[in-house]
Amino acid sequence: MEIICNKCGAVIPKPDMKTIRDGEIEHTYFLCPDCGEAYRVSTTDKHLRKRIEDYNKMSARVKKGNCTKEFQKRVQKVKEDNVRRSRELAKAHPLDPLL
Ligand SMILES: [Zn+2]
Repeated sequence: MEIICNKCGAVIPKPDMKTIRDGEIEHTYFLCPDCGEAYRVSTTDKHLRKRIEDYNKMSARVKKGNCTKEFQKRVQKVKEDNVRRSRELAKAHPLDPLL
């Protein structure tokens, strides 16, 4: 996964993912090696981390192919909910003051 820094244009071939904890909240991010700009990947709380774990288990079952269309829809819904929740948490918990 190659990423281009929005700030300085550097190509980041392999972002070095870091996590930082703020109480219950966990941020995953990486820094541009050239200019140090921080890029947030995800923000989770305890509940969301559990939901992501659930999603990973469910999606492993989908990959094996032994599930119904109904189940696949449910898995998709869990994923969408998780992404939405992560965005909400990201809005409520800025990363910058922690870096
Ligand atoms: Zn940069």
